[in-house]
Amino acid sequence: LAKEQGKNNYQFFSEELHQSISRKLKLESELRKALDERQFILYYQPKININTGRIIGTEALIRWEHPELGLIPPAQFIPIAEETGLIVKIGEWVMRTACQQTKEWQEAGYKNLSVAVNISLRQFMQNNLIEMIESILSETALAPEFLELEITESMALDATYTIRMLNRLKALGISISIDDFGTGYSSLSYLSQFPIDRLKIDQSFMRNLNTSNQAIVKTIIDMAHNMNIAVIAEGVETQKHVDFLKGQMCKEVQGYFYSKPLPYIEATTLLHSRS
Ligand code: C2E
Ligand code: MG
Ligand code: MG
Ligand code: MG
Repeated sequence: LAKEQGKNNYQFFSEELHQSISRKLKLESELRKALDERQFILYYQPKININTGRIIGTEALIRWEHPELGLIPPAQFIPIAEETGLIVKIGEWVMRTACQQTKEWQEAGYKNLSVAVNISLRQFMQNNLIEMIESILSETALAPEFLELEITESMALDATYTIRMLNRLKALGISISIDDFGTGYSSLSYLSQFPIDRLKIDQSFMRNLNTSNQAIVKTIIDMAHNMNIAVIAEGVETQKHVDFLKGQMCKEVQGYFYSKPLPYIEATTLLHSRS
């Protein structure tokens, strides 16, 4: 009987594996057309001043509006886009759209609104990243001080390259933040070598705000303050999170407690009510 079950299990898992591989292959081939067919859309999640409740900027987060499968979250296609190199073209579309739409918001009266754009490792390794950003800034007329790049600790691996690249990016006048901070494997020493403007405390710490994670969050906030780096907590979902962060003098927050990421029109409505 055990042998029978084992066999069935094997067949069950292999069927599942087969399905997930064929979904991935389907997404991969359709991802190639998605840009031309205008199937991507940016959502915006506000970053909030914890003391005033006002919106200080947004983070642009891509979604794929698939004609049959519906709205696909980035976790399901960004890794495929990275593997295939499609991320370079997609990333350029994200950058252009985020800068354009933020410029529109500024022209509608939100003069100091900034936007943060996520950059993947593959993009970061592209030598023409600088030229791409430079030309989009001039094309959209967004002032560089309103653009922030979110990179991850994984990009700190080749320190020499990273320092050179970050210094060139900073020379454009844009800001740099470290996303998902506290989850990577890199050494803290890069913080003093890299020109970083902001740390984004990973949402996993809020999700499980036990005593040791509280101590870690507190330490990150103090360290950022001591180094003159801004710090924002991600994944803020409850009043309890807010109270804890206020107690630690954290000034910026982002999370479902304030707002989920929203499409442009709905984000505009939120801006009207929260500015
Ligand atoms: P991220 O940059 O760390 O973005 C934060 C993610 O957490 C977003 O998921 C956001 O919707 C979600 N989130 C925000 N507040 C909360 C909260 O209070 N609770 C919970 N549980 N989740 C919250 P999303 O939009 O699915 O994006 C996932 C990841 O995909 C992003 O993580 C980022 O690494 C990547 N990504 C998104 N857009 C882009 C893009 O345009 N380019 C690149 N290269 N990566 C992107
Ligand atoms: Mg991010
Ligand atoms: Mg994050
Ligand atoms: Mg991330």
